[in-house]
Amino acid sequence: MLTVLHTPTLVQICLPHLRHNAQLLQQRLGPATLMAVVKADAYGHGLVPVARTLQDVGVRHFAVARVAEALALREAGVEAPILVLGVAFPEDLPVCAAQQFDVTVASPAVAEAVCTAAPRLGLLRVHVKVDTGMGRLGLWPSEVPSIVRQLAQTPAVHLVGLWTHLATADDPQDTFLYQQLERFEQLCRQFGDDFEAIHIANSSALLRLPETYWHSPRQQARVGAALYGYTSHPQLLRHVGLRPVMRMVSRVVQVRTVPPGTTISYGRTWAAPDWRRIAVVGAGYGDGVPRRLSNRGRVGIRGQQFPIVGAVCMDLLMVDLGAPDAAPDVQEGEETVLFGEGGPSIMEVAAWADTIPYELSCGVARRVPRCYQETLPSAEPCMENI
Ligand SMILES: *Cc1c(COP(=O)(O)O)cnc(C)c1O
Repeated sequence: MLTVLHTPTLVQICLPHLRHNAQLLQQRLGPATLMAVVKADAYGHGLVPVARTLQDVGVRHFAVARVAEALALREAGVEAPILVLGVAFPEDLPVCAAQQFDVTVASPAVAEAVCTAAPRLGLLRVHVKVDTGMGRLGLWPSEVPSIVRQLAQTPAVHLVGLWTHLATADDPQDTFLYQQLERFEQLCRQFGDDFEAIHIANSSALLRLPETYWHSPRQQARVGAALYGYTSHPQLLRHVGLRPVMRMVSRVVQVRTVPPGTTISYGRTWAAPDWRRIAVVGAGYGDGVPRRLSNRGRVGIRGQQFPIVGAVCMDLLMVDLGAPDAAPDVQEGEETVLFGEGGPSIMEVAAWADTIPYELSCGVARRVPRCYQETLPSAEPCMENI
């Protein structure tokens, strides 16, 4: 007999919202190409269901951080080009060649390894990455001419893309983006024609750059966060119409009325100022709820928001429902929204926790089931179907 175990905490992944976001962003890109960034298990949303859903709405390019993630996509039947954004180790080049992964060349050492391996391995597809101001991975602009020449002259090396990454695009007031754009465009004027594609924009840049920037199918945008319905700065989302894909919910596991002075949770960081009704909720940092939300965050119950009081524990957190005569008559088992419809947004929760929504969705723990909604919520109960 199949045993169904009930978990208090789960995330719901709204696939219709994901489709909506992909179509909206593709529209914004006009003739340019959307490369869906699905690294880190699609930012916690689930690599394979997300990639399949995106393919259904016409997405034909994917990017991941690591070779193992690219392999997981291929094994799930994704035949589209997959760019590995991170460093390719020489030991991984054979699998990259066999699986036709797009390899990033971000240093002279990787260029050397690629040029040595390619003739033996057969075709290696490469994207040359330049550091125009991110201060992370990449060739210096001055290294680009000789490396491009070296790659272009090596048989079996296929030059696919030239790219760079932006450091400050998510700050709506920032202007450094334009310096990086200028540096990149200078390189594109010199070497762009050697490549099939060029790409610079992440989600924030896609939302900040005017739609007229996108004029050619050779231009690609590497879009992650916006597909999932968030960015790191709320201002960038205004009037765009993106919809949140992930909703995290738990349940009230106990409701108690406590006398004045009762302290709540580890460290006794909160004391009831008078008689209070306290809901104990079955979610904690072991599920990915930041402990930083202790005495700072809020959750949604019955469409209203209530403060988290005391320290967030590994499996539980406590919520102040108010004075007993004024508090709603919340019952054990009732839904508690950690973020999403009916509670605070993932962006609000990230701000309270001094982080960005990326960290919250990536941080949803493995023990939390992902429930995929094929149709809009309310039409169908949440089913776990990975
Ligand atoms: C993660 C990543 C992206 C996607 O960024 P979003 O802000 O999620 O759109 C783009 N490019 C690179 C190099 C990345 O690592």
